[in-house]
Amino acid sequence: FAQEGRLVTDLTGTGAALLAGSHRAVAATANESLAGTQLHRLEVLAALTSNVSLNATRTLGADTDRNIAHLIGLQVVLGIVGLLISLLLAGALIVVTRRQTAHFRSLVTSSTDLVLVFGVGGCRYVSKSVADMFGRPEKEMLGYGLIRFVHPDDQASVEAAWTQNESAGEIVFRMATRFKEWRHLEAHITDLREDRYVRGVVLNARDITERVRLEEELTHQAFHDSLTGLANRALFRDRLSQALARSARSADPLTVLLFDLDGFKQVNDTFGHDAGDQLLRRVGQLFVEVTRPSDTLARLGGDEFGILLEGADNPRAAAVADRLLTKLAEPVHIGDRDFALSASIGIVVHAGGVEESEVLIRHADVALYAAKQEGRNRYKVFEDDMARELHDVLGFEQDLRLGLDRGEITVHYQPEIDLDTQATVGVEALLRWYSPTRGEVPPVQFIPFAEGSSLIHLLGEFVLHEACRQTAEWRREGILPEPFVTWVNVSGKQLSDGGVSVLVEKALRATGLPATFLGLEMTETAIVTQGVVSERVSAELQELHDKGVHIAIDDFGTGFSSIGHLRRFPVDLIKVDRSFVQGVGHNLKDTAITTSLANLAHALGVRAIAEGIESSEQLQSVRDLGCDLAQGFLFARPVSANAMGKVLAEKRDSSSPLEEPVPA
Ligand code: C2E
Ligand code: CA
Ligand code: CA
Repeated sequence: FAQEGRLVTDLTGTGAALLAGSHRAVAATANESLAGTQLHRLEVLAALTSNVSLNATRTLGADTDRNIAHLIGLQVVLGIVGLLISLLLAGALIVVTRRQTAHFRSLVTSSTDLVLVFGVGGCRYVSKSVADMFGRPEKEMLGYGLIRFVHPDDQASVEAAWTQNESAGEIVFRMATRFKEWRHLEAHITDLREDRYVRGVVLNARDITERVRLEEELTHQAFHDSLTGLANRALFRDRLSQALARSARSADPLTVLLFDLDGFKQVNDTFGHDAGDQLLRRVGQLFVEVTRPSDTLARLGGDEFGILLEGADNPRAAAVADRLLTKLAEPVHIGDRDFALSASIGIVVHAGGVEESEVLIRHADVALYAAKQEGRNRYKVFEDDMARELHDVLGFEQDLRLGLDRGEITVHYQPEIDLDTQATVGVEALLRWYSPTRGEVPPVQFIPFAEGSSLIHLLGEFVLHEACRQTAEWRREGILPEPFVTWVNVSGKQLSDGGVSVLVEKALRATGLPATFLGLEMTETAIVTQGVVSERVSAELQELHDKGVHIAIDDFGTGFSSIGHLRRFPVDLIKVDRSFVQGVGHNLKDTAITTSLANLAHALGVRAIAEGIESSEQLQSVRDLGCDLAQGFLFARPVSANAMGKVLAEKRDSSSPLEEPVPA
């Protein structure tokens, strides 16, 4: 281009010079040759110019061609590199995506959560965990197949979960495994029908079968007795209230039976709780045998049971009670023994209409009490006048309790005489109750009554403490001969309930009386139950005996215990019952019994005392028969502590053995 420019400049310059020359040529035509060369020069220049520009154009063209070829090459290279890079990227992306998918898949499959997706056409996806849990192949559960395995009662809610709009929330449903076992699933519902990747309703479920079972078990436990599996008191009351509500509407009758096994406590004490438990379970089974499935059977506590018969009137209630008593009487084999049971049953029949459950139970209780009073092993149907009688009973209990608080109850003492030396060797402590409203109430009336309630424990503690305190006082006053034993009666109920040894030790410690001054009297029946001495009672008494406390068997001969037990039992004295002593001397049988009882005592190495000596003939006879000691009105009636103290003081002063009986 520079060459061309120069040539063009030269060309235009030459042209201009030529034009200027021709002007001058007009003036100077003579310089023709000059004009001729310039034209030639112009021609050459023009030719050169066009040649140069042609060359330039050619060069340009060739350059462009080269450039384009270069460009194309570059583009091809770039394209290839780009392709490679995108392939690489795509590959990486695929790997990453795959990894992520696998990650989520294994999350879904390995998660214990069960994932089900529902959409058009039923179930569209089930996670592996679902298939595993139910032991069914996935394809069996896809589509509408799944609903076949859902519990019929739950099918509607599962279907609603995926068909209804706004189906978010939770559902619980049951599904059957391959082994026809129902599993409870709790599912969280997420509606992803709008999500184009899912287009379905997702159920995230968890297996809550164990939890449901535990809950059911807890509920069962809260309302059932664990030993017998029967309903408990709470459920019984609830069922009764419901039954009463129904009866108020329908006017149908209903019946409540309450009962109590006779002498169960002794069985428990003597043969142990295992045997007791087995018996209670057996009773539970008997109930099932005599009632209908619609009846409610309940263990209300201890050996107390309740039956609710809906729609039952008097005759059916009586029939059930009869059947029960008959069944109970059939011996049951437990351990290596046969037990025959009996029960006291209280029945209340509600004719229909409005009534309160509390009232019914109370009335059944009253009837039960009446059955017990009449001698057990029977049933009584509630009647109105029973309530009045019970009211008296309740009043009696209240009075006795108050009497104890108010000091109306005192302890009297009756001396016991050594038949060899005539010396007073002890006293028996006997309770006395003087009630301002009832007057003198004999212990034969209030002791058995107190044994029916917890009052016996209060009375027992009172007499024990008071007797120890009084004896310790006499001892301090120096009027007690030695040896001397103050005997306190202990009831069977106290023994079977336990805690006597603790009570005795407490009384001795509190009063400072040495153990050897105290004796405990108990009847054979109190320590021997169903032919056996309770291990615990025996251990408790042995413990006391080891400490020096004396033990006597009261009313000996009236129980039916075998002598064998006594040999293993820490006994120091047997008290021949008054009923035998009465006939001694004139009644051959009584004489024979008293003789053999005294002999028996001696054979066992213990002493015998004759109770209830009222005459000198009796005294002579029992002495002849070998009794060691005697007690009775002939010597002294039970007297107050004060009076007894005076007698003891007099005897110490005279220090001569008692020749004449103390005036009654
Ligand atoms: P028990 O243990 O056989 O007491 C002897 C009973 O015979 C006493 O009657 C006594 O007063 C009476 N008695 C004594 N000598 C004669 C007599 O020569 N002729 C007659 N007919 N009776 C005589 P009590 O005091 O009425 O006691 C009756 C029962 O009450 C006692 O019989 C005993 O089982 C019970 N008892 C009395 N005090 C207590 C006590 O503190 N605790 C316990 N658990 N029971 C007691
Ligand atoms: Ca006694
Ligand atoms: Ca007695």
